Amino acid sequence: KAKGNFKTPYCEYDEDMRQQVLKEQKIINAMEMAIENKEFAIYLQPKYRLEDETIVGAEALVRWNSRDNGFISPGDFIPVFENNGFVYEVDKFIWEETCRYLRKWLDEGRAVKPVSVNVSRIDLYDPKLVDYLVALRGRYGIPARYLELEITESAYTEDPEQIISMTKHLRDAGFVILMDDFGSGYSSLNMLKDIQIDILKLDMGFLKSSDHSAKGGNILAAIMQMAHSLKMQTIAEGVETKEQVEFLKKIGCQCVQGFYFAKPMAVQDYEKLFLGD
Ligand code: C2E
Ligand code: MG
Ligand code: MG
Ligand code: MG
Repeated sequence: KAKGNFKTPYCEYDEDMRQQVLKEQKIINAMEMAIENKEFAIYLQPKYRLEDETIVGAEALVRWNSRDNGFISPGDFIPVFENNGFVYEVDKFIWEETCRYLRKWLDEGRAVKPVSVNVSRIDLYDPKLVDYLVALRGRYGIPARYLELEITESAYTEDPEQIISMTKHLRDAGFVILMDDFGSGYSSLNMLKDIQIDILKLDMGFLKSSDHSAKGGNILAAIMQMAHSLKMQTIAEGVETKEQVEFLKKIGCQCVQGFYFAKPMAVQDYEKLFLGD
């Protein structure tokens, strides 16, 4: 980066901001045609039960191979799509793809396991969301237990009343609800008693950012106990090491998802590896 001698640190900052705006503009320009062009796809990342290390299901994660920009990671485009509302269109596409595959596996007589999909906090403000998801499930004839919904913890701090009530409606409609990224935001543990969820999904970044000392571990152990006493199941995500696995076993975490076991993969690979292709 060129530094003129008259430039202040603020100019550097402006340049970073300009780059950011350009990057976002590229994403927005490419977004318009992306669904029509079939540029989005799902990848599946398996989840395992710790007790016997068998697969219990998977999470569907969006992948974008943009005609103009190549592969872009969800961490870059999801926040942009959340700002302009387009995330709802993408999520609807991902949910439908997931139902389509579930239907296909059921028709093929495979040993189908549940798949969770991500529901952006933005989607949760549509009063028709429950009807939409119920209709989608019905259209593909998917038994309720196969389509699970992940709602990020931070959604609850933004507008607790709205999101807690929407969560309840979704759960009443038979969806299994996971609270995603738990421990990454600032929701209070106390709030958990007011939210009806089935599965608490712990963010391992939480353990990484705090030190590996006894303290971080104790907090995780306490969360685990609290979850179980509230009748919630637990899954840890972002599990990368054997040490983490051993520790999670010790404190009674039920399931895990992470690179240590498997990375997100194309649907065809998932079918081959886990559905007896
Ligand atoms: P998430 O829902 O918490 O998904 C987990 C993310 O962690 C995924 O990143 C996954 O690839 C990554 N991951 C899994 N195991 C490990 C591990 O062991 N180590 C590390 N470092 N990372 C691991 P991905 O696919 O890049 O997605 C990032 C985020 O983007 C997701 O976090 C979710 O918030 C959002 N996202 C992804 N797909 C969708 C979608 O279809 N709809 C919406 N609304 N958001 C999505
Ligand atoms: Mg998720
Ligand atoms: Mg997560
Ligand atoms: Mg995460």
